[in-house]
Amino acid sequence: MSTPAHPFLDGRPKRLLIGGQWVEALSGRTFESVNPATGEVIAQLAEGGAEDIDRAVAAARAAFEGPWSKFKPFDRQALMLAIADAVEKHFDDLCVLETLDMGAPIARTSTYKRWIVQALRFYGGQAVALAGETPHNSFPGDMFSYTLRAPIGVVGGIIPWNGPLISQLFSICPTLATGCTLVLKPAEDASLGVLRFAEIMQEAGLPDGVINVVTGLGSTAGARLAAHQNVDKIAFTGSTATGRRIVEASAGNMKRVAVELGGKSPDIIFADADLERAVPGAGMGCFNNSGQICYAGTRLFVQRPIYDEFVERLAAFSKTIRVGNTLDPQTQLGPLVSGKQLATVSSYFDLARAEGAQVMSGGERLVGDLAAGFFVPPTVLAGMRNDMRTAQEEIFGPVASVIAFDSEEEVVRLANDTQYGLGGAVWTRDVGTAHRVARDVRSGMMWVNCYGTTETTVQSEGYRMSGYGVKGGRRHVEEYLYTKTVWMNLA
Ligand code: ADP
Repeated sequence: MSTPAHPFLDGRPKRLLIGGQWVEALSGRTFESVNPATGEVIAQLAEGGAEDIDRAVAAARAAFEGPWSKFKPFDRQALMLAIADAVEKHFDDLCVLETLDMGAPIARTSTYKRWIVQALRFYGGQAVALAGETPHNSFPGDMFSYTLRAPIGVVGGIIPWNGPLISQLFSICPTLATGCTLVLKPAEDASLGVLRFAEIMQEAGLPDGVINVVTGLGSTAGARLAAHQNVDKIAFTGSTATGRRIVEASAGNMKRVAVELGGKSPDIIFADADLERAVPGAGMGCFNNSGQICYAGTRLFVQRPIYDEFVERLAAFSKTIRVGNTLDPQTQLGPLVSGKQLATVSSYFDLARAEGAQVMSGGERLVGDLAAGFFVPPTVLAGMRNDMRTAQEEIFGPVASVIAFDSEEEVVRLANDTQYGLGGAVWTRDVGTAHRVARDVRSGMMWVNCYGTTETTVQSEGYRMSGYGVKGGRRHVEEYLYTKTVWMNLA
């Protein structure tokens, strides 16, 4: 397996987008982007530093105060619809690039098209639906009170590597819908799709400075953006540890913050569930994107009467999953994103064994034909307890901890015994059980007899250490707006 030719991978170092111009980092430094399926270096990227973030923030501020502030909501909507059309036109190249850059198989990245286009069209609709209110007041005399919506200003978007084409949209769309401007800092391990997407936005008419992209390291470029005095809001998606640093850094100028962080989501299978659906559904709910999804269902609670059968069927199912060549449309799982992530996941294989897990499938790096990449197979761990570290810590790999339970009351308690609260699911034929468990599990998203469907029209938010701030839906757009109150004396 080797990396095929791609028009964007032309050997020229990739640059930063600042104020509508593609520029090198001021330091002249670059870093490498690797295809995780082959270990090959596929591009050099500009390593933006603190001084580049400063330039990008200045460009975003100038755009915010410049012509962009004169765009009417219908103008912003028209731009977003034009970007959606341009994405449709260029999508085939875009999803191949994302696959080469971060390792999700083409069968997965090709499904992003509907999602991205819907997001741009939905938020484009939100742009023209923004409105203030005229609340009553009982003040003596003749006082009129009303509210206006105003864009919050310059936004810093810091995104992870597990699906950048998607996660960038959660800051790009509300930025464009509300008239904010953005400095986007993609993750070191997966920036190429974001850079190509920015080119497509420019082609569709994106005004200079409205969206700026600075590639670079989290500890330098990311940290500067999070702490920047001239940034009004940070939208972050990533690990809980980094999220905490972002929140601390934001305090300097009291910027608004939204943080979508880690998870260790419970997926609960009752004895009356339809196992024909629950086994592959819960399996892929955990293994999809090689487990590199924040809301992955990684703690599988299975009711005792069906525990042994479920484990056996899940292990058998996991062995049918095709792992390998990311450009083969039949492939279901690609590699982990990086050697670093491979080392992390491998360390959890060791930990699980030390904790007494029975490894029913997987549990070891894949070698042979795949040795050059960072591949691990879907892994099923049986005999697990919820208090084991393997069952409590976010692994970000395709690792399912299968835990037995007896009663509904017990499983809700175990499901809630976690520091996180992002996703979760329940599989049952009993409608009462489904509703009670969906209500009682403390997490921001629950699925019933399915796992992992998301769309930008439907909001989500985390509980506890999975972070705060809304993603998707109308309330997401609200978070990019101030509500200004005006009192007017009419007497
Ligand atoms: P991971 O550890 O899996 O790489 P992170 O949460 O650290 O996940 O990374 C998510 C994003 O946060 C990336 O774009 C990364 O560059 C950025 N980042 C990492 N550290 C910091 C930091 N201290 N301040 C701001 N951004 C950071």
